[in-house]
Amino acid sequence: MSESADITRSQKLKQRLRFYEDLGLAPFYRERGSSRSSQPPSPASSVAKPSHSIEEPPLPKSSLKPPDVPPLVCPAKALLPLTPAPPSLFEAANRSHSETLLQIRDDLGECTRCKLHTTRNKIVFGDGSPQAKLVFVGEGPGADEDAQGLPFVGRAGKLLTQMIEAMGLARPDVYICNVVKCRPPGNRQPEPGEVEACSPFLFRQLDSLQPKVIVCLGATAFQTLLQSNRSISHFRGQWLDFRGYKMLPTYHPAYLLRNPAAKADVWKDLQKVMAELGLEVKKTKAK
Ligand code: SF4
Repeated sequence: MSESADITRSQKLKQRLRFYEDLGLAPFYRERGSSRSSQPPSPASSVAKPSHSIEEPPLPKSSLKPPDVPPLVCPAKALLPLTPAPPSLFEAANRSHSETLLQIRDDLGECTRCKLHTTRNKIVFGDGSPQAKLVFVGEGPGADEDAQGLPFVGRAGKLLTQMIEAMGLARPDVYICNVVKCRPPGNRQPEPGEVEACSPFLFRQLDSLQPKVIVCLGATAFQTLLQSNRSISHFRGQWLDFRGYKMLPTYHPAYLLRNPAAKADVWKDLQKVMAELGLEVKKTKAK
């Protein structure tokens, strides 16, 4: 090869190196200063190829010892975190299938994760059978629940008990809990931050119970499980999927106390639940 051809080739190589350096791909190349040869390096020896390249055939074996080349690091990979991203809320909940309700209650402790702890009397974790195939999820404790530490024990709770019994079940057969475990002052709706802080415990309860059917009582429960802002009227009485569990939203018993005419709709919804659970569907209405 002539001297002028060598110079041209060297210049082209330098331009190519500069181009890749401008792209931030310099780590693909051995530093020019690290060459042990005083001769201008040939492209074949100076440009280290990514080990995963599929475009070029393997170089022929040579008896010459190849120059030491720094380990290749793909710049894109170098920017990736070495540790896996933390699991999502749902992944974390999915791992907790073997958790017992008692373990989840222990983990909740005397919770101060949101400001509702400042006004509560008792945490209302949940009540019922750990083997329940039917779970009712409400919004949050009211005054009676806050005083007793049990869910749905006030007027709305008594109506829920009647509905459960009308289905041919008893309260201890099912599990009842709420989105938030502490009473919002004045029975206001829980705020988004309060729901965010408390709902992971609800998800863990559901994963521990693995129920056949979840009945959401009211908009807050339905919206929390579906992560939706849609009105409950769009979905009331429809079967929905909550991470593999069958879920059916219906009206909250407190709403039925104010609007008794809606009981007929709720009873239709509960009859769907009864059919799903293999219970005898009765023709009578819930009182
Ligand atoms: S509502 Fe839930 S997150 Fe907030 S303090 Fe009570 S138990 Fe903790």
